[in-house]
Amino acid sequence: MAKYKLSCCGKVVDVDNKPKWCLACAEHNIEVTELDDVLSPCPFCGGKAGAECLSSISLYWYECETCGGASGSGEDWVEAQRKWNMRDESI
Ligand SMILES: [Zn+2]
Ligand SMILES: [Zn+2]
Repeated sequence: MAKYKLSCCGKVVDVDNKPKWCLACAEHNIEVTELDDVLSPCPFCGGKAGAECLSSISLYWYECETCGGASGSGEDWVEAQRKWNMRDESI
């Protein structure tokens, strides 16, 4: 699985193959950006971050699987990942 950001509406999809169209916008031959799936280790314990989401209210965040430390939430995976990785850099 890989995450791709769609250029048409900025949505992030989690699929096996690079998407060529957007269902939401009915756009074809769209540009997509493959997202870096690398997550920094937990700033508290060095543990692995797990993806969490409440898609019903578009809330995405990462949480440490070991100590439960969480990043700030974002409106998509890109933002959530950025916040998680950013927090690690500040330490
Ligand atoms: Zn779209
Ligand atoms: Zn941790």
